[in-house]
Amino acid sequence: MKRAERAARKVLQRLEEAGFQAYFVGGCVRDQLMKRPVSDYDVATNARPEEVQALFSHTIPTGIQHGTVTVWLEETSVEVTTFRVESRYKDSRRPEHVHFVDSLYLDLARRDFTINAIAQDLNGRYYDPFHGMDDLASNMLRTVGEPFERFQEDALRLLRAVRFAAQLGMRIEKETYEAICTHAGLLSRIAVERIRTEWDKILLSNAAYGIQLLLKTGLFPYVFFDIEVPSPQILSSLSLIEKLPKKLTIRYAALCDRMGIREQEADRWLRKLRHGKKFVRDILSVLRALPTGDQSICDLLNWEDTTWRNHLYHVGKEAAEHAAQILSVYEPNDQATMVYNLYRAKISQQPIWTMCDLKIDGHRLLNEFPDLERKGWLIGEILKHLVGEVLRHPHKNDPYALLCEARDFLEKNRGSQE
Ligand code: ATP
Ligand code: MG
Repeated sequence: MKRAERAARKVLQRLEEAGFQAYFVGGCVRDQLMKRPVSDYDVATNARPEEVQALFSHTIPTGIQHGTVTVWLEETSVEVTTFRVESRYKDSRRPEHVHFVDSLYLDLARRDFTINAIAQDLNGRYYDPFHGMDDLASNMLRTVGEPFERFQEDALRLLRAVRFAAQLGMRIEKETYEAICTHAGLLSRIAVERIRTEWDKILLSNAAYGIQLLLKTGLFPYVFFDIEVPSPQILSSLSLIEKLPKKLTIRYAALCDRMGIREQEADRWLRKLRHGKKFVRDILSVLRALPTGDQSICDLLNWEDTTWRNHLYHVGKEAAEHAAQILSVYEPNDQATMVYNLYRAKISQQPIWTMCDLKIDGHRLLNEFPDLERKGWLIGEILKHLVGEVLRHPHKNDPYALLCEARDFLEKNRGSQE
């Protein structure tokens, strides 16, 4: 038994010993039934948040007003949420109020889809009032209760439906599907951060199927904003994204590349999705590292060695590695294979990736040329010059050769140093 499961069982045990009801609920029950790896364990209980806090020595009041307490146990965490119902949803967003209740049934009834509304007790007994197990068996995603109402209550569920369908490879039940199409516009009311969380999970799973569903249901513009709808041909090529590692930077870059979303547009889109600055920068570097379109693939095959070295230095090692990984899953035609092999070879031959890879540093320059003490700015200039030299002539990355080069540089620029 894994540590997370062991910890969750202990939480259930302790709650039961204290006289409360406690169950595994949501994703962990669903994933275990589907024989998928369980990521985290959620527990539902009739104990109030204060009572949960009193029973365990390490707790964090994660979302205490909504009834969630995180329990730390055996170096892992378990989310424990008090049975609750939600009332008065405002503008199809989060509920205005939650009420704690004593009934497991009511807690399951407020959940989004039948497959997420199954509970299991410590003895392994299932509680499945909305027949989620039948839906799992027939691979069908269906809302708990009336789909029109459930999507009007919380429009994020529209996108969650696509997320679960893509992630779990399920079909969406007819009425649920029709309700999504009818209510697609409501997604505009949802905070973009919540949209992004679900969309990122789609991208990390079966992205091609997910995007196809977004297009068919009318949800596409609420995730992609003003980005052009991909052609059927592009859409079918998106399936190769699945072959890539489950890493967002790589998958975003591959998606933008395939969909013809170039740097500037990608930058705008990623910022609209409120992704962090560094994350956006990393994706743009991978995009820059990739050859774009047939024309530049031909150019790339004819590049001089120095052009290659400058290009790789400019995009950085990580982006170059990611780009090579993306190229490796492209349709294996002669040209793609050639570009991939070339890319790999150039990466392995790259003499330096950053200034730190030079065989001398600022201290060594100061030792050699003590006058530089008074002209600190010049050290950076010299190092920049040395980088350019090594990119042109890799054999020059040697302490002695670099010092000679630095001396020449200082001689030549004597006039501008005063
Ligand atoms: P994952 O493994 O991807 O985390 P999950 O099923 O645990 O999947 P979460 O988003 O963590 O998904 O939500 C936990 C549970 O809370 C869901 O299984 C569902 O029962 C319920 N839930 C979450 N969001 C909503 C929502 N917007 N409306 C109704 N129920 C929800
Ligand atoms: Mg979860």
